[in-house]
Amino acid sequence: MVYQGSCHCGKIALEVEGEITEAMSCNCSICSRKGSLLWFVPRENLRLLTSEEDVGTYTFNKHFIRHHFCGTCGIHPYAEAVHKGKPMAAVNIRCLEGIDLASIPVKNFDGRSI
Ligand SMILES: [Zn+2]
Repeated sequence: MVYQGSCHCGKIALEVEGEITEAMSCNCSICSRKGSLLWFVPRENLRLLTSEEDVGTYTFNKHFIRHHFCGTCGIHPYAEAVHKGKPMAAVNIRCLEGIDLASIPVKNFDGRSI
């Protein structure tokens, strides 16, 4: 399955391949403010359809997760990090089209401890 996603204004558009079996709600200082629901996929499963130049990047704490956002509308569609040597993406499924959010099980993730 290939999902289409974007920020609000459309300057960031993406495609993600995979099956969404669950999403994570993280309680770290940034996720709790954004309210993102995260779906983790290998980075190669995510394809950016718009210019890399329109993707803002924010890091904090250990600076190993790159939180990406749109500089125009402020929405955060995804983040990137290397986990156990593997490039991964955390897609905010609230930014994907055509999914029934209520049907996706949400797990709580304790991001404060990492
Ligand atoms: Zn935007």
